[in-house]
Amino acid sequence: YRINIAIDGPAGAGKSTVARKVASRLQYIYVDTGAMYRAVTWFMQKEGISAENAVKVLQMVQNMVIELKPHENGQMVMLNGEDVTPYIRSLQVNAEVSRYAQIEDLRTHLVHLQRQMAMTKGVVMDGRDIGTTVLPDAEVKIFMTASVRERALRRFNELDKAEPITLEQLEADIARRDKLDEEREVSPLKKAEDAVTLDTTNMSIDEVVEYITAYCIV
Ligand code: C5P
Repeated sequence: YRINIAIDGPAGAGKSTVARKVASRLQYIYVDTGAMYRAVTWFMQKEGISAENAVKVLQMVQNMVIELKPHENGQMVMLNGEDVTPYIRSLQVNAEVSRYAQIEDLRTHLVHLQRQMAMTKGVVMDGRDIGTTVLPDAEVKIFMTASVRERALRRFNELDKAEPITLEQLEADIARRDKLDEEREVSPLKKAEDAVTLDTTNMSIDEVVEYITAYCIV
């Protein structure tokens, strides 16, 4: 029988790479919820709708078709039929995605879509609030962490090399965002009580994938 797997953790912990590989091993569907927040952010920036304008953001989102499609290396995000995948990992989106993600009504809307995607089971979903809010009944919950340095390195290797940022700047940025997340009252990132914590600082991707799939099969 099929189960749902929730993978949460901070930026750069390796969630998306691992989640995608676990999904492919189990022949499950992978859902990258961060990509949904990123796609919405990219769209609002393009339309000039700021995160302060929650009413307008919600109105636009309600009329939007957001689809996730499997793709060789990652996931394709479609907005109203247009492939926006190439645009959503820019520094410009990075800089503001957490602000849009704080809009409560936007979260409610995306959480609803995410639950629909997981209804048939057999889903690996990664994000910040999957084990706590989106899929509190997920059969397996993993909370992935890694040191700030290691997470910065992973993000750095993921970035388009044309982006004007150094590893040191990224490390400082990740530390700053961690701090903001911890201080924020409504921080979406929380470890579910029944989640297993996995510190991946000194683990390879394959080791993490191995650990999680073994854990699911037992
Ligand atoms: O996972 P990723 O780094 O791509 O997520 C981008 C941003 O989207 C996060 O920094 C966070 O602010 C937001 N997010 C969220 N809830 C999720 C997934 C992502 O608030 N489930």
